[in-house]
This record gives sequence, structure tokens and C-alpha cells, in this order.
Amino acid sequence: MNNLDKFIKLGTAGEGTYGIVYKAKNKVTGKSVALKRIKLEKFCKEDHTEGVPSTAIREISILKGLRHSSIIELQDVMYTSDRLYLVFEYLELDLKRYLDGTSKPVDKELIRSYIKQLCEGLAYLHTHRILHRDIKPQNLLVDKEGHVKIADFGLSRCFSLPTKSYTHEVVTMWYRAPELLLGSKMYTNGIDIWSLGCVMAEMFNKRAMFPGDSEIDQMFKIFKILGTPTEENWPGVTTLPQYEVSFPKWKATELKTHINFNDSEEEEFLKLMLVYDPFVRNTAKALLGTGYLKKAKLTAPDMKPFPDTTEEYC
Ligand code: AMP
Repeated sequence: MNNLDKFIKLGTAGEGTYGIVYKAKNKVTGKSVALKRIKLEKFCKEDHTEGVPSTAIREISILKGLRHSSIIELQDVMYTSDRLYLVFEYLELDLKRYLDGTSKPVDKELIRSYIKQLCEGLAYLHTHRILHRDIKPQNLLVDKEGHVKIADFGLSRCFSLPTKSYTHEVVTMWYRAPELLLGSKMYTNGIDIWSLGCVMAEMFNKRAMFPGDSEIDQMFKIFKILGTPTEENWPGVTTLPQYEVSFPKWKATELKTHINFNDSEEEEFLKLMLVYDPFVRNTAKALLGTGYLKKAKLTAPDMKPFPDTTEEYC
């Protein structure tokens, strides 16, 4: 049996940056999986070779070796001449859909528990020298018991992060770290921490913290709240390629005037993530050592029954 024949497609689970994600079932084990299909034409043209670039194969085999409770398991990889299929463990809901579907504020203990699990997942990825580069609520999957798992990890190492998704939608910049917006080529672990900070703020407010609609608008939305960065709070910022001396000079405002914190401990914690200088921004490991996360315990979300998952074959 061809490897792909092992699966029955049940429907579409979502659309990601690199391709469609199907819900499918393994005929042998009966288990649900997420089957991510990545079209490869673009890569074939670019490096004038056929099929999957060998660098991508190497990288993906590294991803396949990763095992952590906060990271979606990549179970299998299959490819044809123009398509790559990644088989992931399946989780019913992503954090974006969860936030959109609840009218009440998110329980403060649930936020704490999610952030702890995500810091553990990032600490694991970062010790394996893997940057996610696209942490956002759509890439974080949740279950009824209170687990949250990082999906779509490491793919940007194999294929550069496009500005448009395969459906031509603009890839969101809302979670992008300021050093990337300013054109830095230094990719440090801090870029994932910044994104996680934006996700945390979004859980408090139930709306995105910095919803920019262009690179400049994205930067200015950040600057208006955190202040325009200076050499004092971010040494070297004025030498970054996209930095302009003509940027308006906004003063930093208090985070608590923008975010619905429950207490000052949450505010102090978030400030450790939304730091301009990537070298001063806390690491996932350091965040795990804070009093705020030490108190975290697994908390089940208040969830309506999951969307109907009738098994309609397609
Ligand atoms: P991605 O390409 O990983 O950004 O995925 C796009 C969408 O597909 C996500 O926002 C999820 O709704 C869905 N999805 C991705 N991976 C999974 C998975 N392992 N289980 C269930 N749904 C998934």
C-alpha cells in the first residue's frame, strides 16, 4: 500500500501558511491525524531541481525526532514529485478559534497554564536550536483537558516564511518581533518570546495587541504603546536597516492601560517578554523560573462542545 493510501481524508482542518491541512484517519490504527499538504512547484523552479529540496528533507527529519508534550507530534513525512505531506497528531481546536468562540474573559489560571506549557515547548525547541518564527494563536492547538501544543514548528527553517500564504493571503505580522520589522538578520530565540508575549496579551484582551496592516503600521502600533525604541533601551537599534531617524518619537505608556490584567504579577511577567532589546528579552527557560509560572497548574478550558466532526469522506 502506498503510504498515502493509509489515510482517508475526512475534511479540511484549516489553511496554513504553507498549504491546506486536512483531517484524516489512519485506516490501520483508526486514529485521527492532521495531514498537511505542501505544494512544491515553487521550490522546484527556484533551485532547478525536482521534488523536495534536500535541505528540507534533512530539516524535516530533525523535526520528526522531536518529542515534547507541548509540541504537536510530527508522525510521518511522505512526498511525491511535487507534494510533501506531513502527518501530525490531531487536536480539535486552535487557540484563535477558542478565543473567538468564548464570550467571557479567559480564566487567569488558564492563561498562566497555557503560557507555562508554551514556554516549556519553546525551551525545548530552542535547546534543539529550532526557532518557530510564526507563533500565533492559529498555530497553537488546544484540547478539552487544558493542554496546548505548538504546531507548524520549524517549517520556516525548511522553507522561508513567505509574505503571502499559498491562498495569497498576507501572512500576519501581528506577532512579529520588532527586530525583524526593522530588518535585522539576527534570528535569535527572542523572536518566539516576543510572539508569545503578543499571544498572552491577546488572551487577556480577546483581541490582538498590535494588529498592524503593513510593516510600518505594525512598527508604529508597537511604538505607540511601548515607546519608540532608543539607543538607551535598545543599543544598536538605530543601525538596523529599516530604522529611520524620522520615526515619530512616541513615549512609552503603561501596559496596564491597554491590557485587562487581573493583577500586577501578570503585568510584570508580560513585561519580561515585550522587551525591545532581543538580548535582554527573557528566554523561555528564564521565564519558567519566575514566580508567576511556578504557580501554574493544568486548568481545563471552559469549552462548548467541539464543532461537529461528522466523518464526511471527501
Ligand atoms: P498551520 O498550517 O499549521 O498554520 O495550520 C493551519 C490550520 O490548520 C490551523 O490554524 C489549525 O486550525 C489547523 N491545524 C493545523 N495543524 C493541526 C493539527 N495537528 N490538528 C488539528 N488542526 C490542525
